[in-house]
Amino acid sequence: YRQQLEAYRGKPTVSKSGRKLKLFANIGNPDDVKYVLEGDAEGVGLLRSEFLYLGRDNFPTEEELFEAYRKVVEGLQGRPVVIRTLDIGADKQVDYFGLEHEENPALGYRGIRICLTREDIFRPQLRAIYRASAFGPVCIMFPMIISVDEVRRIKAFCETIKAELAAEGVAFGEVELGIMIETPAAAVLSRELAKEVQFFSVGTNDLTQYTLAIDRQNAKLDEFYDPHHPAVLALLRMIAENAHAEGIWCGICGELGADLSLTETFLEMGYDELSVSPGRVLELRKKVCESEV
Ligand code: PEP
Ligand code: MG
Repeated sequence: YRQQLEAYRGKPTVSKSGRKLKLFANIGNPDDVKYVLEGDAEGVGLLRSEFLYLGRDNFPTEEELFEAYRKVVEGLQGRPVVIRTLDIGADKQVDYFGLEHEENPALGYRGIRICLTREDIFRPQLRAIYRASAFGPVCIMFPMIISVDEVRRIKAFCETIKAELAAEGVAFGEVELGIMIETPAAAVLSRELAKEVQFFSVGTNDLTQYTLAIDRQNAKLDEFYDPHHPAVLALLRMIAENAHAEGIWCGICGELGADLSLTETFLEMGYDELSVSPGRVLELRKKVCESEV
């Protein structure tokens, strides 16, 4: 089977009827870039940036962040990387953030909610990402979005950052901005949100959790946590339709993207990109290439 998969290395990902799909990889550390290349992914569809903040006792500096992102961008040798801004809180707690104990951390002060209220955290991260974009293709993606207003505030802040860098004579490239669709609110508003950004990536791990009201971390609920639930699949279809109605691309970066029993469904829904663990890329490419859809 390994040998059969190897036949797909370096091949385009196209179904029998000619549907093209980009196969990207999810990584959580700059050192994982080697697995992206080994796995033959066409880029990184989700760089979880929490690693830069975990396992230390103070905030990383802009320089530290920049060096880490640049390492990824350079390591990818021209392949694109989608860098997700900080999604701390909920399952990922860090002492020096000084966050209060919460009864419902998954519904709490996390992700973009921290960034939008803590410019001192958001600014260095965005500056570092923009600076890294001078070294290769970079997209920025924002997690846990629930409203058009949030997206507009983020875009305005990105414009401020770009103006600052330009005034300082610091180089940066063209950067696409996108959002994760991982709350039911974002899915319902996806037509409006699609007018604001250049791409969507569906976080099926959280979208399943919030749609079904099932804590993804509670092992007791495993038998109920069903990403194949018709409500989740209906949202997935709607999100892709709304993205395409507004002319933007749409991918999936949650675990469900690697589910081979749904690959044909995703093709038929029109998904443009799937981002999965680097080791899953070749089997997914084989599945797409053998598909009639
Ligand atoms: C998701 O929610 O599906 C996702 C990709 O993000 P994370 O697993 O980091 O919450
Ligand atoms: Mg998520």
